Amino acid sequence: MGKVLVVAAHPDDEALGCAGAIRRHTNQGDQVKILFLSTGVGARGEVSSEQINARKGMALRSADILGADEPIFLDFPDNRMDSVPLLTVVGEIESVMSDYGANTVYTHSAFDLNVDHKIAHQAVMTACRPIPGSTVMTILCFEIVSSTDWAFNAGPQNFRPVQFVDITETIDAKFAALEVYRSEMRDPPHARSLDNIRALALNRGATVGFESAEAFEIGYVRIG
Ligand SMILES: [Zn+2]
Repeated sequence: MGKVLVVAAHPDDEALGCAGAIRRHTNQGDQVKILFLSTGVGARGEVSSEQINARKGMALRSADILGADEPIFLDFPDNRMDSVPLLTVVGEIESVMSDYGANTVYTHSAFDLNVDHKIAHQAVMTACRPIPGSTVMTILCFEIVSSTDWAFNAGPQNFRPVQFVDITETIDAKFAALEVYRSEMRDPPHARSLDNIRALALNRGATVGFESAEAFEIGYVRIG
């Protein structure tokens, strides 16, 4: 049985980025744990504890639909994770890792417009440094519509996937998880519309001859 850790900046990133892959893991008996760094609410003004709890409730339902364990919430400030020392974020991820010992880790791509997403990537790559005795063999980095695709000037490189996971059998579970976050979705032609998410799955699939796929960059792979 594999042990998978998904490190997502906000509740809904797991559904957008890798829900199809998560459901594949759990279908084959792998254990999946999702770690949310921030609540995903509050960036646009006042936030109530009801709003935070509502968003956490969505995350619980999404994890349940995907067959994952109950998620872990770290409650770092939404869209202000650059106000937290990186080492603090790294330390929290390290502590989850040392308890759990994942061998596959999913997280954000570094090439993303959202500051929390970028910090999630950097913190995971730091927390999962491939030192002797590390359990992590693979790190995969996902894309988020309306964020990775909007990083027009992220640097010399934009999101460039090299691993494609067939989600033809699990795309219904992905959309069931996305349905939980319907209040976070927008109407077409917004990039964060269900139509665009489906179009992306079709496009990523067609690139490699699958009906639907999720695409990933590789953080690193160790074969031991
Ligand atoms: Zn996010």
